[in-house]
Amino acid sequence: MFNEKLPSSEDNQEEMAVHHWDLIAHAIKRMNEEDIEPSAIPVESMIREEGDVDVDGSSGRINSFEQTDGAMVEVNRKVEEGGLSRVEDVIFHDKTGKEVFNLFSILPKDYVVLDEAKEGHDFMVPGSARIIVVTHDFLCSVNGRMIFLHELGHAYDYDEKPRSQSEMIDAMDGTAEKERERNAWKQAKEVVKIIRDKGVNFLPEGYEDSAMWEDFEEESIKQHNYREEK
Ligand SMILES: [Zn+2]
Repeated sequence: MFNEKLPSSEDNQEEMAVHHWDLIAHAIKRMNEEDIEPSAIPVESMIREEGDVDVDGSSGRINSFEQTDGAMVEVNRKVEEGGLSRVEDVIFHDKTGKEVFNLFSILPKDYVVLDEAKEGHDFMVPGSARIIVVTHDFLCSVNGRMIFLHELGHAYDYDEKPRSQSEMIDAMDGTAEKERERNAWKQAKEVVKIIRDKGVNFLPEGYEDSAMWEDFEEESIKQHNYREEK
């Protein structure tokens, strides 16, 4: 966790374009270097064995793949200033190849997703920056998708209940943080249901009502405790 002052939307536009990505790149670098406890939850792939996969040769990022239920997932990216990779769209197709749903149509307003986190270092930039940072293969496993849903849950939660000044300053306020964690998971569960209504299996069937979902919740609370003890 870090506490840099990030530019607000009222800041001068031109200045923001320069400082914004600079600060974000710095924050990502710091986050990726942070010491973390490895997750105890085994990785479950969302890629269908022997399905079509299109990997970008130079970056190693996956452009499209067939998920376990046979639906194609297409990821569109662009490179931001300073070389940061930004995910612009995640499009789910049906079995006939027709586009059925863009996952990013449900991102809260003005949110940006960068796939620059190292494994286990996913986070959300605090303050007004509205940036979620995930690993480049976050869509390829249940684990990566759960982390994305969790960060998305935080985004919804902060939109509904903006953080107070003191919460922003003392990002390590234990009680507030745990409450935020629970809220993020609650919001995440709602998001899964919204996506299912669009006809997309973002997670394996019934996952959101399984004990595995609970394990993720407990694990994320534990991670917070671990950070606080350091
Ligand atoms: Zn969280």
